[in-house]
Amino acid sequence: MQELKKMKIGVIGSGIMGHGIAQTLARYGYTVIMNDISMDFLQNGMQMIKSGRFGLEKAVSAGKMKREDADQTLSRISVTINQEDLKDCDLIIEAITEDEKVKGALFRKLDGIVKKSAIFASNTSGIMISSLSSYTARGKNFIGMHWFNPPQVMKLVEVVKGPETTEDAIHTVVSISESAEKVPIIVNDGPGFFTTRFLNSWLMESYRMFESGVAGISEIDRMSKLAFGFPMGPFELSDFIGLDTMLHVAEYMYDETKRPDYAPPTILKKLVLSGYLGNKKGSKGGWYQYYGIKLEQPDRK
Ligand code: NAD
Repeated sequence: MQELKKMKIGVIGSGIMGHGIAQTLARYGYTVIMNDISMDFLQNGMQMIKSGRFGLEKAVSAGKMKREDADQTLSRISVTINQEDLKDCDLIIEAITEDEKVKGALFRKLDGIVKKSAIFASNTSGIMISSLSSYTARGKNFIGMHWFNPPQVMKLVEVVKGPETTEDAIHTVVSISESAEKVPIIVNDGPGFFTTRFLNSWLMESYRMFESGVAGISEIDRMSKLAFGFPMGPFELSDFIGLDTMLHVAEYMYDETKRPDYAPPTILKKLVLSGYLGNKKGSKGGWYQYYGIKLEQPDRK
């Protein structure tokens, strides 16, 4: 395996996950090149890295990072809208829209651009690695590297083995994760892997309970925190993840398994179709804004 910190990593997508993955890897010494479809998205991603809620400025002002480390982290990140600039990357981490066709088209194109020895990793929430790797001719070097939101903070990386993924590729992704102080756990392929299968069941059931009048949004969120010790309730968490992403996830989970409890309820589609995508760029808001509820944290210490 190549010396870890000398690896050049391409992160595709600079949204909620992409910018956080890029920031984390650069923080631990990797050279990172971030790609998106427009400079506007990339500038927004860089802004989040600098001054977002989990960005470098906050870390410096909270005394968690030295100013020079923050400056060095930034200097290790470059941005591009030209995919040709990714050709000499050793690892590609894809973090774009949760849609198999969109991801597949990207991987097919990148397969012809990026050097043959490079590993392709997808941060997909739940699309089977077997499906995504079939868009390339590098099944042995194709893997799932599922980070959690926010990547700067969350410890777990769910490492998903595809049908042909080699032990070398697994070892490289595990080692990179550990070098960035993450805890990689290896799972086998399947719709939603472990974490998204669990998450999807909880969120869709919560939406249905709200839809059928069992309890209100804020009440369900508060009960989840107080009863189960979850840091966020299902509605608060969905706004944080992105409602369009959750809709894609649920549609995919249902299509693959035909389990009715995995399917997205109408109420989720209604929000997404009317532009309520959660707390992300270009969104009108999430569950709390759509229903005009104030997000209170009365139960938090
Ligand atoms: P997002 O909507 O915030 O960002 C997606 C970014 O990808 C956008 O900036 C978009 O312009 C860019 N993009 C789309 N098509 C592209 C292309 N062809 N080439 C380059 N860039 C492209 O989405 P996100 O929440 O960051 O999710 C990204 C991936 O991570 C999804 O697969 C999602 O399921 C997964 N994920 C999300 C979370 C979460 O909490 N949001 C957690 C774990 C995994």
